[in-house]
Amino acid sequence: MRCRGLVALAVAGAAVGVAFSSPGLAAQQAPTRASAEAFVASAESRLARDHALSTRASWIRATNITVDTDALVEQLDAEQSALVVQLGREAAAWDEVAVDPVVRRKLDLLKRLLDMPPPQRAGGAEELAEVSGRLSTTYATGAFEFEGRRYTLGEAERALAASRDPARSQALWEGWRTVARPMRADYVRMVALGNEGARDLGFADVGAMWRSGYDMEPDAFADEVDRLWAQLRPLYVDLHCYVRARLNTQYGDAVQSAHGLIRADLTGNMWGQNWSGILDITAPQGSTPFDLTPPMKARFTNGEALTRAADGFYGSLGLAPLASTFWTLSQFERPAGRQVDCNASAWTIDEKDDVRIKACFAITGSEWRTSHHELGHNYYQRAYQAQPYLFREGANGGFHEGLGGLRRPVGGDPDLSAGRRPSGAWR
Ligand SMILES: [Zn+2]
Repeated sequence: MRCRGLVALAVAGAAVGVAFSSPGLAAQQAPTRASAEAFVASAESRLARDHALSTRASWIRATNITVDTDALVEQLDAEQSALVVQLGREAAAWDEVAVDPVVRRKLDLLKRLLDMPPPQRAGGAEELAEVSGRLSTTYATGAFEFEGRRYTLGEAERALAASRDPARSQALWEGWRTVARPMRADYVRMVALGNEGARDLGFADVGAMWRSGYDMEPDAFADEVDRLWAQLRPLYVDLHCYVRARLNTQYGDAVQSAHGLIRADLTGNMWGQNWSGILDITAPQGSTPFDLTPPMKARFTNGEALTRAADGFYGSLGLAPLASTFWTLSQFERPAGRQVDCNASAWTIDEKDDVRIKACFAITGSEWRTSHHELGHNYYQRAYQAQPYLFREGANGGFHEGLGGLRRPVGGDPDLSAGRRPSGAWR
């Protein structure tokens, strides 16, 4: 549910062991309207062919993190991203050629198919795959010592949400940050490599590449976000002031000042991004905040049961049921005896009906909403299966997240007013 570019969706597959130093498809053809169509068709089938292989490898690694699965995914990532970058660079050969609008869109998509493009130079893809793999594993398997035992991220999140002791909240917040500290050098390196790769593809940097994915110029997208923020800002400032005052009343000046910034750990969320966990403190005076968790615990005994109930919402919209493999192959709970990546995310394995959720659901109101969100991604992924390979990601990421967030306004969750942000990308 944290925002982070996803995995399998954006990383298109490629044949294992392909020699990427071979002359590119584009080099063999003059840049004409016809050769653009031939290039795009060839690139698309090449990428689609092995998508399932790369996605299955990533799935196995995410649900069973070992030295071996890490190494396999790292190798596949390096090979695939080198191919995708090669295709993206070759696509630039038709930048000045008048081509069919559908072909133009596919050429543009080829240039930004990867969230984090590796540098084109020799060794660039391998180094980025190694650094990214290490970051991913460190984060997914991170834990810290607290009160005499080890806390995973999920346990720390729940403890922080429940804590009303500022010293304990601070310790949990800082404890989780000890996992991040050793990641700093790799993260800085990943950014440098990604920016280098983005420049190789003709973008100013990774940020400009990301902002170019919304059918407008990157600068125009930044302006649009600024415009929307200016619209929303007065409400946010009022809410911030109100919540700060409530926290000040709850904890006193020594813990939360009546002025300035809100102490992030007091929001009860590990990133301070969602304040719904402190509704007991922030609800209007005289009201009785409704806590979804107790009735959830009374009704559901495990993550699958919770997800089946959430799925009923999508069935009630008239959508066809998910394939039976969704229920047999998804990971709804943290399994015993192996390391897994618990960050909730939605996957399409074969880009057809084999969609899955990977999560470690606890029975809480927050996870209830997360299960709806991930299911929204799954239904949206499935809806694109008849599209050409390069169009299967949807119009843009905003639509994906929007569908995931649909349940909230429609369903009228009791704590809708707490303003929980829709959870992250395809997660
Ligand atoms: Zn999402």
